[in-house]
Amino acid sequence: MVTQRGRARGQCCESSDLPLATLPSLFNPHERPKLVAPPRLVQSTDLVLERSMMFTLKVRSHQREELVEFTEQVAEKLKESGAQDGIVVLYVQHTTAGLTINENADPDVPRDMLHALRTLIPQHGMGFRHGEENSDAHIKASLTGPSVTVPFADGKLLLGRWQGIFLCEFDGGRERRVIMMIR
Ligand code: ZN
Repeated sequence: MVTQRGRARGQCCESSDLPLATLPSLFNPHERPKLVAPPRLVQSTDLVLERSMMFTLKVRSHQREELVEFTEQVAEKLKESGAQDGIVVLYVQHTTAGLTINENADPDVPRDMLHALRTLIPQHGMGFRHGEENSDAHIKASLTGPSVTVPFADGKLLLGRWQGIFLCEFDGGRERRVIMMIR
C-alpha cells in the first residue's frame, strides 16, 4: 500500500492520507500491477455534502383516497436547481400519506392499486381503536412507505418510460408537504 503523498499540489483528487489500491491488470497477466486511485466519492464526501439542496414541494389531493402524480413538479424543481447528475430523495412528512413510483399511462393502474388496498384494509369494520377513525390510512401509508429515490443524469430524472411519481393520499383531500433533497 502506498499513499498519494508526492502528487503535485492542486490536483483535484489530492489528499495527504488516502491510500491508493494496488490492483493487478485485468488485461495482461504479465503487466506490473497499476496504481488505481480510490473512487472520487470516497475522497470528496465533503464536496458532495456541500452540493446538497433541499426544497419543500406542496402536493394537493382532492379525495380521501387518491394517487396524485407530481412527476412534473419534481422535474421542474430539478431543472431550476441546475444539478446535472445525482439522486433525488423525496420524503413525505405525514402519517396518512405515502409515496410510490408506478405506471402513469393507464389511470386504471392507480385506481386498481387503491381498490386493492381498500379491499385489504377497509376504513371501518376491522375493530380499529384509534379515535380518529383513520387507522386504515395509517396502515396504508406504512405499506407504501414515506420516501422514494430517483437517480438523474444530464439534469433529467431517470424514470422508466411508464413510470410516474405519486403521492399516495389515504386521508384527504388536503395539501401535503414533500421534502425534496437533491445530491
Ligand atoms: Zn390518525
